[in-house]
Amino acid sequence: TLSDRLSDSFKNLRGKGRLSEADIDATAREIRLALLEADVALPVVKEFVAAVKERARGAEVSGALNPAQQVIKIVNDELVTILGGETRRLRFAKQAPTVIMLAGLQGAGKTTLAAKLALWLKDQGSSPMLVAADLQRPNAVKQLQVNGERAGVTVFAPEPGNAQGVEHGGDPVDVARRAIEEARRTLHDVVIVDTAGRLGIDEELMQQAADIRDAVDPDEVLFVVDAMIGQDAVRTAQAFLDGVGYDGVVLTKLDGDARGGAALSIAKMTGKPVMFASNGEKLTDFDLFHPDRMASRILDMGDLLTLIEQAEKTFDADQAAKAAAKLQGQGGEFTLDDFLEQMQQVRKMGSLTKMLGMLPGMGQFREQLENFDEREIDRIQAIIQSMTPAERAHPKMIDGSRRSRIAKGSGRQVSDVNQLVDRFFEARKMMQQMARGGAPGLPGMPGA
Ligand code: GDP
Ligand code: MG
Repeated sequence: TLSDRLSDSFKNLRGKGRLSEADIDATAREIRLALLEADVALPVVKEFVAAVKERARGAEVSGALNPAQQVIKIVNDELVTILGGETRRLRFAKQAPTVIMLAGLQGAGKTTLAAKLALWLKDQGSSPMLVAADLQRPNAVKQLQVNGERAGVTVFAPEPGNAQGVEHGGDPVDVARRAIEEARRTLHDVVIVDTAGRLGIDEELMQQAADIRDAVDPDEVLFVVDAMIGQDAVRTAQAFLDGVGYDGVVLTKLDGDARGGAALSIAKMTGKPVMFASNGEKLTDFDLFHPDRMASRILDMGDLLTLIEQAEKTFDADQAAKAAAKLQGQGGEFTLDDFLEQMQQVRKMGSLTKMLGMLPGMGQFREQLENFDEREIDRIQAIIQSMTPAERAHPKMIDGSRRSRIAKGSGRQVSDVNQLVDRFFEARKMMQQMARGGAPGLPGMPGA
């Protein structure tokens, strides 16, 4: 899968000091393959990969993130940008009713979506009306009526054409036009027009949808598309754009295992925002589309992205640089003051234990982290603050009598002081190894 491949390529990057051209190329190749596998259209893949490479090249080596995290972030940012940045909201008409028309292939999920959207709007205080302008399928009107009833909203449907009420016949354009009049009369402020779809792109269907559009002059035309249709999504999206035109896209069946390739292709190729997401058969399985969430779905690394964001926000690059300089002998030795400072950074990062558990490849640290107790930082702080400045700067001078004085001053046992001093020397050794380019380091984690 895309996620596996990306994880693999990031695994290769992990632990290197900085992004090299070879790293970037290797990662770009993986991302390209992965996106193709996820059914993203080729031109979109090409453009996407080029943009990621460009940004990776230009990126400054970050103080807060390791190179792998940096690439993930660039890939993610680029995905979010293509998927539309912020969520685009529905536009309401200045004068009610607002008319929303749905278009898309048969089975895309229009009729289901009509009811979901109506319920969602109703919950926000609107008084929506559903309009059954799909008179093609025998059961389409009934389906909308059933769903409308479930949502507790009014459904405007043509009178049954025969005694059984099964065949409706009639002119969908006329039905749609009459529905708008009815909505105006009965003070419904939003009208949602469900239309017919065919299994494939079809001239007659497009013409009918265009005629309905002309009759109701919609404020929003929403193109409804099944996220599972993969490569076909672009062709279909383009055909509806040419044939009917639309303002936004609704992705359905996101509860399936589609990785979101369709979302990326459609957003990029049509430039139209994806506005809503449908993710199940229940009427409440519906939400605004969130580009950032879709990006993490495509990457399948949502928690990791949260961590990166937080790490970036919190990490004090200056302090890190200072500590690194000291380790390299430029600013004197790494002291207990630095040790304490780094501990406090760890605390600032929040529930580090939980977050780091989410990082792929962090399994090796997980056990240590699970044993990591935040109160430990308070105890360490108390002990270090009971030391003199000279002791903090030159921990080697902390002999037995000093240890018992420090223990008394901080209200701890001498054994606690011993343990802390031992841990400090261990951490210093570890950090010096890291500074020489040894194991990949976790910034700010000397005590864990
Ligand atoms: P239409 O032909 O475009 O009106 O599509 P329908 O609304 O009739 O939906 C076609 C089928 O897809 C129905 O069986 C729906 O229950 C189902 N469906 C619609 N949206 C979703 C969704 O988000 N998830 C899942 N799993 N099924 C959906
Ligand atoms: Mg339908």
